[in-house]
Amino acid sequence: MLDHTHDPKLKSWVASANGHPDFPIQNLPLGVFAPEGGEPRGGVAIGDRILDLPAALAIGLFEGKAREAAQAASGATLNAFLSLGAGMRQSLRSRLSELLAQDSPEQDRLKACLHAAAECTLRLPARIGDYTDFYVGIHHATNVGKQFRPDNPLLPNYKYVPIGYHGRASSIRPSGVPVRRPRGQAKPAEATVPDFGPSQRLDYELELGVWIGPGNGLGEPIRIDEASGRVGGYCLLNDWSARDIQAWEYQPLGPFLAKNFASTISAWIVTPEALAPFRIAQPGRPEGDPAPLPYLMDEADQREGALDLELEVLLLTPGLQAKGLPPHRLALSNARHMYWTVAQMITHHTSNGCNLQPGDLLGTGTISGPDQESCGSILEATLGGKNPVVLASGEERHFLEDGDEVILRARGRREGYVPIGFGECRSTILPTV
Ligand code: CA
Repeated sequence: MLDHTHDPKLKSWVASANGHPDFPIQNLPLGVFAPEGGEPRGGVAIGDRILDLPAALAIGLFEGKAREAAQAASGATLNAFLSLGAGMRQSLRSRLSELLAQDSPEQDRLKACLHAAAECTLRLPARIGDYTDFYVGIHHATNVGKQFRPDNPLLPNYKYVPIGYHGRASSIRPSGVPVRRPRGQAKPAEATVPDFGPSQRLDYELELGVWIGPGNGLGEPIRIDEASGRVGGYCLLNDWSARDIQAWEYQPLGPFLAKNFASTISAWIVTPEALAPFRIAQPGRPEGDPAPLPYLMDEADQREGALDLELEVLLLTPGLQAKGLPPHRLALSNARHMYWTVAQMITHHTSNGCNLQPGDLLGTGTISGPDQESCGSILEATLGGKNPVVLASGEERHFLEDGDEVILRARGRREGYVPIGFGECRSTILPTV
C-alpha cells in the first residue's frame, strides 16, 4: 500500500503544508467545509488551506477514476465517496498528490481553488446512519472494571467478544461545536432515592472513530479477511460521558442517556492509504489469554491490522486561559492499546448478518495506556474523582467543569516517513440551561 504519495521527499507548493503537523502533502484527508457565506462542499486539507473539490473539478483537473472519486467527494456529505473502496480512493489520492506537489504544472490554476481553513466552517463529513461504540481499549476496560470489581475487573466475555453497544448518531457534532452539560437522573451512593439535575461527573473519552466505507447487505456477514477493505477512513472521537447518570442507569441494558447527549469528532476523514506507514502488527495477547475464535482470526490482520498513532488529550480551563497558560496535557496514549483490531470489530459487528452502510461510524472505545499518564478518561485519571488533576493555574479538576475545553489530537510518526495528524477534535462545556 506504500507508494509515491508517501515519499518523505515530497513537498507541496502550498508552503504551509511543508512541515505542517497535521496536513502535509502525505496526508490529504477529505472533509466537508463551508467558506464564509458559501454552501457546504467537499474539500481536501493541505497545510492551512482547503482545496475546493467542486472548483477543481470545474476547471477539468481530474480524469477517469480520479474524476469519479472527486465527484463523489464534492457534495455536502461524503457518503458516496465512502462507498467507493480503496481503488477509487487511491486514484484520487494519487492525482491530488500530483496536483499539489511542488513541481505541479497546474499550480496557478489551482491557487484559485484554495480557501484559508481559518475562514471556513467544518461540517460533519458524512450523514451518519448508525453509530456503534466498542470497548476494545483493554487498559480502560481494566481500569474502569477495577473501580467496580477490584478482584475481577474484566468480565469473562471480554477476551472472546469485541464488546460494543449501539450509540446515537443524531447527537454527533464536528470539532468546535460546544457541548451542553446534560441533566439526568442519578443516585449518589449515600442517597436512598435518585434525584434529577445537571450531571456532576461529566467526562470525556479518548477514542478513534472508524468511518465505514463499502458496507454489506443485510444477512451478508463481512469475513475477517475482507474487513479492512470496508474501512473508509478514521477520525478522533470524544464520546462524552456523564458518569453519575451512567452508574445509575446502566444495569441491565448498558449506557443510554449518559452517553447519547453528545459525541464530538474531528472533521477530516483520514484515509487508510494515508495511514499505511503507521500500520503495525496487532500486539501479542498476554500469556494465558485465549486465541480469537476462528471467525475473528486472520493472519494478515494480525500482521498489520493495528495502528501506531499517538493519541493525546488536552484540557484548557477558564483559569488557564485567564492566565495565558497553555492547555494541560491530561493523557498521552496510543492506538496500539486496542485488544481487538478494527477488522475484528467490523467482522464481529456483521457476523450475525447486521448490515453496515457507508458513513456509519464505529468508536473503538476509550484507548487508555498502561499507566496513569495515559488515561483516556478523567474517571481513570482521578480514580473516580478521588485524586483531582492539579493544573498550573492552581485549579483542580475531579470531573469537567463548565467552560472547560477538551482537545483530542492524533499523530502518526515513523522513522523514514513524514508525520501526519488528524486535526483537532475540540469542544467546550456549556452550563446546563
Ligand atoms: Ca465510549
